[in-house]
Amino acid sequence: MLPYARQSVDESDVAAVAAAITDPFLTTGPAVTRFEDDLAGWTGGHPAVAVTSGTAALHTAYAAAGVGPGQEVVVPPLTFVATAATAALLGARVVFADVDEASGCLDPGAAAAAVTSRTTVVASVDYAGAPADMDALREVAAGAGALLLEDAAHSIGTTWRGRPVGSLADLTTFSFFATKNLTTAEGGAVVSTSPELLTRAARFRNHGLVRDPAEQREPDEGPWHQEVHALGLNYRLPDVLCALGSSQLRRLSQFKQRRAELSARYDAALADVPEVTRPARPADADVAWHLYPARVPEDARRALFEHLRAAGVGVQVNYLPAHWHPVFADLGYQRGSCPVAERWYRQEISLPLFVGVTDDDVDRVCDLVRGFFRA
Ligand SMILES: *Cc1c(COP(=O)(O)O)cnc(C)c1O
Repeated sequence: MLPYARQSVDESDVAAVAAAITDPFLTTGPAVTRFEDDLAGWTGGHPAVAVTSGTAALHTAYAAAGVGPGQEVVVPPLTFVATAATAALLGARVVFADVDEASGCLDPGAAAAAVTSRTTVVASVDYAGAPADMDALREVAAGAGALLLEDAAHSIGTTWRGRPVGSLADLTTFSFFATKNLTTAEGGAVVSTSPELLTRAARFRNHGLVRDPAEQREPDEGPWHQEVHALGLNYRLPDVLCALGSSQLRRLSQFKQRRAELSARYDAALADVPEVTRPARPADADVAWHLYPARVPEDARRALFEHLRAAGVGVQVNYLPAHWHPVFADLGYQRGSCPVAERWYRQEISLPLFVGVTDDDVDRVCDLVRGFFRA
């Protein structure tokens, strides 16, 4: 079985983890700071706070942005449910805004139509690895007095108009789940261009604890004293996993290059299959491709999916529109409200894309796709 995604762990990763696991600091130690510093090397120097997952990163980023009841967060529906769920868990109303036909990313026009005086955050998702028009979204967010958040679970290593992901939005979130462009098994990070937002994120990750006496209300309590000003959670990523992350970051350029090669090979091999719409290639981005999202006619998608799975090819569909999940449907969100994202979902099939895919694998998958449509 060729999976649709799989991590790449080599001996250098194993050695890094082995060293970290015998370090006196199993967690909250120096490997965390090291990983955060290493991440900043990919974000244009903007600092990072490591957390336990991409979902924790979104929850932390929304909390840092002050998202809460009575507020609205604009989210594209073509995403993993966590982009919306974490805002809803904080009590905000999620407002779904449709995606751009070519990229599958939040459409700035739709976002502009969705913002109100209650909008706190406009959240964009770098679908498959490529960002939305972040300059246009920045204007939309600023015009509404809202912050811009980039769910970059797919896109660490991408640059857009010469600027790295991590520098494009007020808050950027990464996921280091096993299937993503690099992994810490489970893990994530929040990056911010604002020191104040980053401090809030760092506190939220650690119960909201304030340790700096200069910022405490009762600094004379004693040298042991720490106090909570705003509630938080324990979302700390342990040293063992941070060590894996630092090791993986050293390989990220290679990962990005191999993913680009494979993606281009799919493009070439599928060029003669008119039923397949290949992913758009943004001219202004150097993309770390996470997915190869092919689109096929709606009435063929399910049969193609089953055909490929039966032939031992792991395929996936990214994503069920977030507002279709029963939890949102029960709140009154309507099917049909985001027609572009909904059509994307009905047509989309993600072909296997990870560092361990061989050229022969790509050719075999494409032969299967071609054979399906010629049958
Ligand atoms: C994977 C993913 C998440 C969640 O990340 P986890 O690390 O699995 O919690 C959020 N948003 C998007 C777009 C994702 O792909």
